[in-house]
Amino acid sequence: MTFLTEVYIGLGSNVGDKEGRLRRALEALDASEGIRVKAVSKFLPTKAVSRVRQPDFINAAARLETYLTPDELLTVLCDIEKKMGRASKGNYDPRTLDLDILFYGDQIVCTDNLTIPHPLLHERLFVLTPLAEIAPDFVHPVLGARIRSLEKQLLPS
Ligand code: ADP
Ligand code: MG
Repeated sequence: MTFLTEVYIGLGSNVGDKEGRLRRALEALDASEGIRVKAVSKFLPTKAVSRVRQPDFINAAARLETYLTPDELLTVLCDIEKKMGRASKGNYDPRTLDLDILFYGDQIVCTDNLTIPHPLLHERLFVLTPLAEIAPDFVHPVLGARIRSLEKQLLPS
């Protein structure tokens, strides 16, 4: 246990009842010891970023408050992923449910299990668009830029 920290997570699914799965994952998170879901973005349909054809995704972002450490939170997210029947480990395979820690306050974490801020979030509109809805002025602790401007850099002009 640690102090109360504001955390942002990214959620994604591209198999079966995607919206239902994201909704149930958020309910499971909110019901977890030491975690409260404070805000959820709209559910955004997105095209899969993949070398092979695969179904479209639904992506979303959420703001949590937690007393858990980054490692404890990752364990909870992995448990929920497993419970919701995620089978694949391959990066470009269909994903029943993917839950990523985007930011853990303004902390920088770099261990074997965990890289925070999430290393690809600033390259992915499917992360930045939902995140910009709930945290436009959050400043990326490594890049020093607001979410709204990171998103703008990726939008076609
Ligand atoms: P990806 O989300 O990059 O497609 P996976 O979800 O299959 O890949 O990878 C899961 C593993 O990624 C976890 O077991 C965890 O150890 C590691 N990981 C590293 N950084 C993070 C992070 N910020 N959020 C979630 N998982 C992370
Ligand atoms: Mg993941």
